[in-house]
Amino acid sequence: MPGDPLYCDVSLPVPLDQPFTYGMPETLRHRVQPGCRVLAPFGTRTLTGLVLKTHTDPPSGTVREILRLLDEEPALDDELLQLGKWIADFYCAPLGETLRAMTPLAGEIRRGKVYSLTKQGRDVARQLHLGSDEADPAASALRMLDTRPLSASYLKQKIQNGAAVLKSLEKKGFIAAEDVAAERDPLRASAERLRIEFVGRAEKLPKAERELLSYLELHPGSHNLAEVEAFVAKASTAARSLARKELVRLTVEAMAENHGPIRTPHPLNPQQQAAFDCIRAALDRKQYRTFLLQGVTGSGKTEVYLNAIEAALALGRSALMLVPEIGLTPAVAGQFYQRFPKRVAILHSAFNDNERAQEWRRIRSGEAAVVVATRSGVFAPVSNLGLIIVDEEHDQSYKQQETPRYHGRDVAVMRAHQAGAVVVLGSATPSLESRYNTESGKYTLLELTQRIERRPMPQVELIDMRQEFLETRKHATFSRALIDAVTARLDNGEQSMLLLNRRGFSSFVACRACGERVECANCSVTLTYHRRDRRMLCHYCNYSERVPERCPKCDSEYIQFMGLGSERVEAELNGAFPKARIARLDRDAINGKRDYETILAGFRDGDYDILVGTQMIAKGHDIPNVTLVGIVSADVGLGLPDFRAAERTFQLLTQAGGRAGRGETPGIVLIQTINPDHYAIQCAAAQDYQAFYEKEIHFRRALNYPPFAALANIIVQGRDEEEALSRSAALGRVLQPSPEGIRVMGPAAAAMARIKNEYRFQMLLKSATRKRLNQVLGDLRRFAAAEKWNPTSLVIDVDPMTLL
Ligand code: ADP
Ligand code: ZN
Ligand code: ZN
Repeated sequence: MPGDPLYCDVSLPVPLDQPFTYGMPETLRHRVQPGCRVLAPFGTRTLTGLVLKTHTDPPSGTVREILRLLDEEPALDDELLQLGKWIADFYCAPLGETLRAMTPLAGEIRRGKVYSLTKQGRDVARQLHLGSDEADPAASALRMLDTRPLSASYLKQKIQNGAAVLKSLEKKGFIAAEDVAAERDPLRASAERLRIEFVGRAEKLPKAERELLSYLELHPGSHNLAEVEAFVAKASTAARSLARKELVRLTVEAMAENHGPIRTPHPLNPQQQAAFDCIRAALDRKQYRTFLLQGVTGSGKTEVYLNAIEAALALGRSALMLVPEIGLTPAVAGQFYQRFPKRVAILHSAFNDNERAQEWRRIRSGEAAVVVATRSGVFAPVSNLGLIIVDEEHDQSYKQQETPRYHGRDVAVMRAHQAGAVVVLGSATPSLESRYNTESGKYTLLELTQRIERRPMPQVELIDMRQEFLETRKHATFSRALIDAVTARLDNGEQSMLLLNRRGFSSFVACRACGERVECANCSVTLTYHRRDRRMLCHYCNYSERVPERCPKCDSEYIQFMGLGSERVEAELNGAFPKARIARLDRDAINGKRDYETILAGFRDGDYDILVGTQMIAKGHDIPNVTLVGIVSADVGLGLPDFRAAERTFQLLTQAGGRAGRGETPGIVLIQTINPDHYAIQCAAAQDYQAFYEKEIHFRRALNYPPFAALANIIVQGRDEEEALSRSAALGRVLQPSPEGIRVMGPAAAAMARIKNEYRFQMLLKSATRKRLNQVLGDLRRFAAAEKWNPTSLVIDVDPMTLL
């Protein structure tokens, strides 16, 4: 038919930052839509790409055809496609890689090889159908593939001499392999997460399967598979086999529907009500608007969020809530399930691909109108979006540390802008950027200045560890005041949390004779001693080695463990309080998300007296019986050469302090430090955000850092130090003389001069306007492309969270 689209432009996850035009086989012409994923040949490979548009303009030169359509419905709707284009442009990332990061369903596809017919192969297969030699394995392979693409493992099972046959067909150009696509086995979720239901009977089943079927027949309805296992032996294995025979139906259960303490909705107090009224009024107007909900720790921000979501639903719109990586515990999820039964979808990186895909579909179909998610959930296929909440908006985990290096909060604001939705950014310690935006009128400030039920803010005391040393003449980990405070908690049956934001046992190992510090073989950092493993570990690349018995440099035997880590805090606490029940929460102590939740739940239930940990324990948890928070050293991180060091320290101390005294009994916070006069520590001790903000914004203005300039961190890296150096110099010359409106710092060796054997050189660009910065970054990317640099050797980080 005239006017039918014949071609499609496809964005592929390759560093070449441009769409590619493909022809569409006739059968697909009406089915391919923008936003659908397709398999496309690219060079000798087959790649999964995303269709940007379909059209009738023949490209110049030869055209190849797409091999297969992967989605009958677009994986990204038009709104998300637009958002993807904005992200690619704003964060200087290739569009194909950006779009791939936005489509979770890649997860449905398992690594492995899948074969499909090429156009030529299809023609041959059609001929074969007209009658041919049944026994020819090559012919039967083509015939099988003519119905649909099939996995290599399946074909090899079914076809005689499969491997060789496939190889030869591929060589002849009749079939093509795609190396990521194999349909995901839908039965991989664990028994706890599966529901099982009876479908039908069959003859001659093994005993375990027969018994399971009988049980299900006698107990109609759907059951949790793990629970069934208590009655029927081997139920889990039998269930999977029966599901393959389609005699039972297995579905993945939505996450822990009934976890966590039950919270009844509270009537809002006047401050909460005032904040909520503003949000509701904005929702009613159905226009974009961003609020910053600044509420001190324990002021009841969550209750405001829940009410706002309710209001959005009442208007027939959906709501998306983003939480930091570590913030999505069953307790948090539980509140949402309770408040919005059956309407909540949870997207979390700890879920397996299946679970994520299932939640994704529930969102897509509109069944789930409330989405709670971590960073990448900002791309959830929510339609009719009315509200986005970003909880703990200052949290660093919102920034993605690989391409595309987007900031989830800022993308949320952009998405809401496009959708005409309302944004609520919440925090007790807002980022300087967000708070500044309320001052300039871009965002609207809503404040909760008091804790719920007028509970007092915790009382904070600074302990000067230099003074402590002068008085005791001992380099102790715990001051006398902290020991006394913990003792008192143990006597009263109250709980304590002790924070040290550094894992491991000793932060470095040094020789007392010559001063040599043991460094990583691949990175320019010292190795951290982990006592449990009796090894020294690099926190950047995971390189590890045994502790040397003698100094590798001078051969002396005076090897010393210096610096403090959370593992050692735990060990010393065990020494000081042998009867106390102590748990530790840091990346070494836990093995995945479930451990994390088990430890936290145990602490909440009173199984432990003391919880020791890194920043993991500082965030969001609401544990009423904690009346003491001790910061073992407030100085970790303060000395880093990073303009956010003070901000981060202030946030961490304030958030950690906020864990104390959330129940009936008031709490105290003890902060040990050797920098008691530093403004970040002083302001945290006073729990005074405003004072910190004023000091810090003054520095930012004076030094021209965000929010007063748009910043980009540029790293040129490579295994060959000389080459990386000369490339960074060449890049520096592109920026000489300094382009108008841009300040260039560097190039110079990066603060972390070597990571994972890559030498790193750094440049920092500051610009008064975004537009100008974006143009100049474009110039740099074009230069690197023209010079044919390997795409990983130039890293551009727009709005960096860290300069290290
Ligand atoms: P934040 O996130 O601001 O630190 P939360 O939202 O965790 O504070 O609230 C702290 C506690 O106060 C929670 O246990 C919550 O159930 C309770 N709470 C919230 N709002 C009210 C209210 N209006 N009346 C009584 N309790 C409330
Ligand atoms: Zn030595
Ligand atoms: Zn290393």
